[in-house]
Amino acid sequence: MADIEKQVVFSKEQKILIEEIVKDDDFSHTDWYKEEKKKSLQELRSHIRKHYRTEQRRKCTYCKREVSVQSASNCQVEHIAPKEKYKDYMFHPKNLCVSCADCNAIKWCHDTIKPLKNSERKRYPSSSGAFLLVHPHFDNYADHIDIFNDRWYIDKTEKGHFTIGLCKLNQRSVDFGYYEPDEIMVLAEELRDAKAKGSSKLIDLIKERMLKLLDE
Ligand SMILES: [Zn+2]
Repeated sequence: MADIEKQVVFSKEQKILIEEIVKDDDFSHTDWYKEEKKKSLQELRSHIRKHYRTEQRRKCTYCKREVSVQSASNCQVEHIAPKEKYKDYMFHPKNLCVSCADCNAIKWCHDTIKPLKNSERKRYPSSSGAFLLVHPHFDNYADHIDIFNDRWYIDKTEKGHFTIGLCKLNQRSVDFGYYEPDEIMVLAEELRDAKAKGSSKLIDLIKERMLKLLDE
């Protein structure tokens, strides 16, 4: 099951506002912050934030750490495909979620949609395979990434690998002064092999070693 089950629903008025913005050729993503549109956009943004904060059980989409309940600055409306590149998807319910301030800032405007070979994409992709990252509306995070000690992120798939790199999830722990996760990464490789072989005894053994290492 995907991490997000229910997408945000917009009222009639909100839909009209969204349509206006998307149709307006002069509107750019920076207008999101402009004074004259601030109030209605703020309400819209707060509606989106409130919905996804609850739907995501107050967890950031990418790092799974807690987002703020009161403060908007650490519970940001996140555009999964960057709004700088995909203006048409700016309010697409499936392109929205909430993230922590760090993930939002680090991910920035990096592309997350796989490019089509010979044509331009006309509609928002409707399946997981079109995206490079773990997509909360299409993917289950735990299928792609394991988290150890709330700190180390181990990729289980290519999407997991991309997401960890995109948001610098391990790098942030290293920068914060934790040891380099080399040893844990080696164990993670072994764990992946053991899972591929389906050896539950080996899996348990490696997990035990991992936990011991993380406890030290
Ligand atoms: Zn985060």
